[in-house]
Amino acid sequence: QVFVMQRNFSRNAAHEFRTPLAVLKTRIGLFRKKQDFRPQATLELLQIVEGEVDRLSAMVSELLELTNLERASRGERLSSGQLIRSAADQAAILVDAAPCTLAGNAELLRQAVCNLVENAVKYSPAGSVVHIAGHRDGEWFQIVVADQGPGIPESLRQRIFEPFFRVDDSRSRQLGGAGLGLALVRAIAEFHGGAVYGEKSRGAGSRFVLKLPCEQDPPPD
Ligand code: ADP
Repeated sequence: QVFVMQRNFSRNAAHEFRTPLAVLKTRIGLFRKKQDFRPQATLELLQIVEGEVDRLSAMVSELLELTNLERASRGERLSSGQLIRSAADQAAILVDAAPCTLAGNAELLRQAVCNLVENAVKYSPAGSVVHIAGHRDGEWFQIVVADQGPGIPESLRQRIFEPFFRVDDSRSRQLGGAGLGLALVRAIAEFHGGAVYGEKSRGAGSRFVLKLPCEQDPPPD
């Protein structure tokens, strides 16, 4: 099973890299052939090259993060309120949270919550509301990110956490993602002894739950 997973991972990664590389190769080849070096044409080429290089760089960073995760430290303590507020600062978002202390890597945990929030914003229509809530459930702290977007079909609710998996390939590609965001959220959750899953939402839209172990004592501030 591990072998099959690795093979799929490599195949998908190669496929993802091939598209921007093919665009670069074609555009540069055309530019050379046409010999049209007017500023407008040159700027257009540069814009395309820059866009594709940015896409490749983002993918490399995400892949490196996924593979280097095991080496990260996880000894910090942070308050659940801080964690949630840091993600909510990015957008107009409704937040309510009960306090508790979390142990782990603050930067990675922030990134996990931010990825969920960014997806909620990215896949929802403009002007809709994203809701983040945090509550304690015994030894667990649960962060719920809910949106009013298209939602995720139940049959795919597990698969979206696989690296490179996208529900709607063309739409997600347009929005700039390689399908690594949720894989990273899952890896970060598991690295901290927690979990992440998509839940059936009460209304339309998606609902993600990030479950992290929490400490018993009062939170630091
Ligand atoms: P991407 O970089 O494509 O956003 P992710 O790993 O973050 O990759 O998400 C995987 C796929 O799950 C996305 O391509 C999208 O199809 C779907 N998805 C993730 N979050 C949401 C959401 N909040 N609403 C609807 N679809 C979502």
